[in-house]
Amino acid sequence: MQPMISFKNVNKYYKDFHALKNINLSVYEGEILCIIGPSGSGKSTLIRCINKLEDYDDTGEIIVNSSIVRDEKSLKAIRKEVGMVFQSFNLYPHLTILDNVTLAPIRVSGLSVVEAKKIANNFLTKVGVGDQIKKYPNQLSGGQQQRVAIARALAMQPKILLFDEPTSSLDPEMVNEVLDVIKNLANTGVTMIIATHEMSFARSVADKIIFMDNGSIIEVGDPVQIFDNSQEERTQSFLNSVYVK
Ligand code: ADP
Repeated sequence: MQPMISFKNVNKYYKDFHALKNINLSVYEGEILCIIGPSGSGKSTLIRCINKLEDYDDTGEIIVNSSIVRDEKSLKAIRKEVGMVFQSFNLYPHLTILDNVTLAPIRVSGLSVVEAKKIANNFLTKVGVGDQIKKYPNQLSGGQQQRVAIARALAMQPKILLFDEPTSSLDPEMVNEVLDVIKNLANTGVTMIIATHEMSFARSVADKIIFMDNGSIIEVGDPVQIFDNSQEERTQSFLNSVYVK
């Protein structure tokens, strides 16, 4: 089976700082991959290379659904297939919730306003904010805004969803409402890559976990292997410092 996403010998430098070190990784259709590791280990950079928010070195290759992530030609296809949810929501503050979600389906996918509204309403209801559509982002709680951001990504009906620490800027009481929405997507067939500091969540939702440190993938495994049977001292000491079983 062809992977939905593959990294082959991927390196990334910020000037002379080596942020991704020889990354090799395959993610298959429908798989849920969680990326864990200390702050600054490269989780966000790895995710951002997938939809070309960051460039990577010419020596390696990232392939997304058969397209090489490199030139402008492949970029349009990749951006259509790959949705992203950011740490800080990134909703358009001057647009209503409904307009935030219909914008890309109308502008990028060419849907009619009527079709786009139908899809937007469907996904906004699914994530529990269907009654908020006329409001503006700053009238919603952080948890609600992040759920709108998830609906906005879903409205493009992507094959792949990227989550870059989706709960890191939320107040603690809002973390679970967002994690529950993400968990509910896990069996819909969409391929998901999630950078997260929420270890219990990663353990319960992931098919595969990678532990990163200092720009490298230190260990790959299923949740049981990583959390209960890790073979790497660095993984164990990270988990001992952040995770109480
Ligand atoms: P994580 O998501 O694991 O916290 P990041 O991918 O954000 O890690 O960052 C990895 C490393 O790259 C960090 O040391 C960070 O300071 C550095 N870095 C990230 N973005 C930039 C940038 N735009 N310019 C320079 N260094 C960066």
